[in-house]
Amino acid sequence: MQLIQPDAAVRDAQGGNKENTMIRIYNTLTRRKEDFVPIKDGRVSMYVCGPTVYNYIHIGNARPMIVFDTVRRYFLYKGYKVDYVSNFTDVDDKIIREANEEGKTAKEVADFYIAECKKDMESMNIMPATANPQATQEIDGMISMIETLIEKGSAYVAKDGTVYYRTRSFPGYGKLSHKNIDDLEAGHRDIKVTGDDKEDYLDFVLWKPKKEGEPSWQSPWCDGRPGWHIECSVMSRKYLGDTIDIHAGGEDLIFPHHENEIAQSEVANGVPFAHYWMHNGFLNIDNKKMSKSLGNFLLVREILKRYNGDVLRFFMLQAQYRSPLNYSEDLMESAKNGLIRIRTCGDRLKDLIASASEMEMSEEEDELLDTTKEYVEKFEDAMDDDFNTADAIAAIFELVKFANTSLDSDSSTQMLMAVFEKLERMMGVLGLQFTIDHDDLDSHVEELIEKRQQARKDKDFALADKIRDDLLNEGIELMDTRDGVKWKRI
Ligand code: AMP
Ligand code: ZN
Repeated sequence: MQLIQPDAAVRDAQGGNKENTMIRIYNTLTRRKEDFVPIKDGRVSMYVCGPTVYNYIHIGNARPMIVFDTVRRYFLYKGYKVDYVSNFTDVDDKIIREANEEGKTAKEVADFYIAECKKDMESMNIMPATANPQATQEIDGMISMIETLIEKGSAYVAKDGTVYYRTRSFPGYGKLSHKNIDDLEAGHRDIKVTGDDKEDYLDFVLWKPKKEGEPSWQSPWCDGRPGWHIECSVMSRKYLGDTIDIHAGGEDLIFPHHENEIAQSEVANGVPFAHYWMHNGFLNIDNKKMSKSLGNFLLVREILKRYNGDVLRFFMLQAQYRSPLNYSEDLMESAKNGLIRIRTCGDRLKDLIASASEMEMSEEEDELLDTTKEYVEKFEDAMDDDFNTADAIAAIFELVKFANTSLDSDSSTQMLMAVFEKLERMMGVLGLQFTIDHDDLDSHVEELIEKRQQARKDKDFALADKIRDDLLNEGIELMDTRDGVKWKRI
């Protein structure tokens, strides 16, 4: 697959019109859609929590990657510069367990899966981040933030050298997840573990002592390793500053991960941590969250054997990012067909441009072109409204329909190019190419021709006709000849 390069997306930025409209973002913190106002004019800082690298990524992990990459691309389209940071959690119980099982070091396991994850991301056309920090490279920063928290009375050292965050010391605790701290405590009062010298059940770990065979680092408290939450507070501050515009991740991270990040960062830095908190809904399978621990996951790797990465991307973007999305073969197939329908239009326009006899746009064409503004506006309105890619895609389909019905061999080059460029730019925001990869189209049509032949053999003529009609809708005409079934683009 040919990738749309970041510079192309940046070039597309010139198409944006930041002055005209505001982007509105649903902020988990306030539970409202708010106008996006950046800290620095024309610039956006985003931190997206990345995966824990002990396996290949599954398509649930791919959802935040795809949706927040699209958010980034839309900001670029609107003319912003974007600083985009996403971490890899490369020290964790699960990585250590995996390393022990494979007879490798935790570093070997993490390095391997980081490299593999980057390959998967490239297949899904995720733009490389401004920085991809790794927890194990940032230990000094974590120690320093923990020291600050201890100095400020927000953290304490237990007898065994574990450092805990004193959760109740932070008055804002619960503000992101909208949980009441007393309810949290009440729910757990009975299960307080004896012998645990935590002051309060709610306190969480900032630093923990090493166990035999585990990676560890020296610290003022004990040889050990950081807790998970401190990683993101430190990496976000180092690469983006004390206060950032957007912090994002899957909705499972709201509590406790992001709640704890806020508690750490706001005490350590003395300023608000992030202005907007964005959370994607789950990718489900059979209406249950896809996760490694439930064992109901599909690896991006497996999907890529059957579909191109852009089909997975298009499938994900057919839902607004906060809605739950159920994975199914049918939806993947319909994403594949939808993408082909759009790209068939792109290819047809390319052919028409190559053979057009009129160069300049006529007056009628000028008026006709004016009517297409409506589709671009619909697209932008949808994206401005909390990145509603579902409606944005609907606007693309409407413009495709317009192109299929209103443009033909009598159209001028100028007119054809104008519509082509609009569609190419809109698809670029979604990280998708507008024209076809011909190998893909061939195999897609051949596969359906085979299915249709089988249906005929089985005397299932209804299915055979449906396949022919579906292809016709995609702009592909089948012709039954003495030499077998042939096809052409119409
Ligand atoms: P993890 O490696 O589990 O920490 O996950 C990395 C990122 O993927 C986080 O932002 C998670 O919220 C997100 N994530 C994990 N599973 C899913 C899922 N089934 N649907 C959507 N996002 C998910
Ligand atoms: Zn995080």
